[in-house]
Amino acid sequence: VQKYGGSSLADANGIKRVAQRIVATRKAGHGVVVVVSAMGDTTDELHDLALEVSPLPSGRELDMLLTAGERISMALVAMAIGNLGFEARSFTGSQAGVITDSSHGRARIIDVTPGRISSALADGAIPIVAGFQGVSQDSKDITTLGRGGSDTTAVALAAALGAQTCEIYTDVDGIFTADPRIVPTAKRIPRISYEEMLEMAACGAKVLHLRCVEYARHYSMPIHVRSSYSSREGTWVTQASIAGGSGGSSPQASTDAEENAVDQPIITGVAHDRSEATITVSGIPDKVGAAAKIFRMIAGASINIDMIVQSTSRTTGRADISFTLPRQDGQAAMTTLRGIQDEIGFESLVFDDRIGKISLIGAGMRSHPGVSADFFGALADSGINIRMISTSEIRISAVVDAADLDSAVTSTHRAFGLDDGSTEAVVYGGTGR
Ligand code: ADP
Ligand code: ASP
Ligand code: MG
Repeated sequence: VQKYGGSSLADANGIKRVAQRIVATRKAGHGVVVVVSAMGDTTDELHDLALEVSPLPSGRELDMLLTAGERISMALVAMAIGNLGFEARSFTGSQAGVITDSSHGRARIIDVTPGRISSALADGAIPIVAGFQGVSQDSKDITTLGRGGSDTTAVALAAALGAQTCEIYTDVDGIFTADPRIVPTAKRIPRISYEEMLEMAACGAKVLHLRCVEYARHYSMPIHVRSSYSSREGTWVTQASIAGGSGGSSPQASTDAEENAVDQPIITGVAHDRSEATITVSGIPDKVGAAAKIFRMIAGASINIDMIVQSTSRTTGRADISFTLPRQDGQAAMTTLRGIQDEIGFESLVFDDRIGKISLIGAGMRSHPGVSADFFGALADSGINIRMISTSEIRISAVVDAADLDSAVTSTHRAFGLDDGSTEAVVYGGTGR
């Protein structure tokens, strides 16, 4: 299964170039199923258009609109392949058997029944599937899988079809130690474990959709992330830390291999995220159950929060709680909290979207003390103030001012010796939007 991202399909020439790659794979004797994203920034443009006609469009209609982007590219890619003398057939997510739950805008795949894809393959045709979309099992409405979700379509189809590998073609040569758009001296990572990639994706490295990595880990599907503009080897996301592409090793054996890999670097990479915001609830009376009430209301509004910091003033006995959440959920969260202000008796609410999150990821952190100290030291040396901190076994994250984020990423990357002195990472296309 090959997936081509929007930046690789930005215009007619891009589509023709991708068609040639697909045909070349076919000529090399491989059966190939293709998943496509919408052309260039089409999804963003459709989203902007929706907001122009309605500030709060219905989830059902928004999904119907956004899935049109992938329909355009699937048909054009199929035509371009036809022009090269091969038969291609395009399918919407629903036709390809991508069955989801009914939460619009962030639907989860619950089943993949790719009967029509298998028949097309059996007929000798190249199936082209629209990524990012499915159909709800209950409502039969069209759903989308969340921004960047075509990656997940590709891995889910690869697993359902029993594919050997899932290739994700994008506008950079693989997964790097930091976003090459910010750190040109970032190094390509030849192999990365599912576990580390999950943390990178969860921390904002949008090169792979988070759910796609979860799916791949669950089905032990090796992912090869690479550029559609070059023929260079990219990054293998696999269980084993041994040779890439070997999907056959048992999960247990690979976990052992990971733990035994003494020569693994301590730090895998630096990720950043500009999509979050913070809310601070101040002057909360110091009573049992206040935090529970606040976060129950937020959860009730289907909002996922990330970091939480609480501090209590000794003089007033009142507490402040700050937390991070997706910026787009800010309005909904503020409205929800205003509704319980009198009941809880807190003093004020502040929303701040001028923040950014930087995360340092590496499985080696488990066994190496001092990583946090070096991380905070690197930020301090660049004069960057830390507003919040959170950690997992293999990750440290800090919230900083949005204006400091790029320099936080660059200086942390340098401080941990991740810079590549010899080559610059190439960004082949895309607008970075
Ligand atoms: P596509 O359109 O192919 O889906 P995306 O824009 O979703 O592409 O993802 C590719 C982009 O991810 C790159 O252009 C790069 O700016 C960004 N990115 C963020 N972190 C990383 C990283 N660690 N390694 C590589 N790319 C990264
Ligand atoms: N076109 C969708 C988006 O922009 C899905 C994707 O690119 O993976 O989010
Ligand atoms: Mg993407």
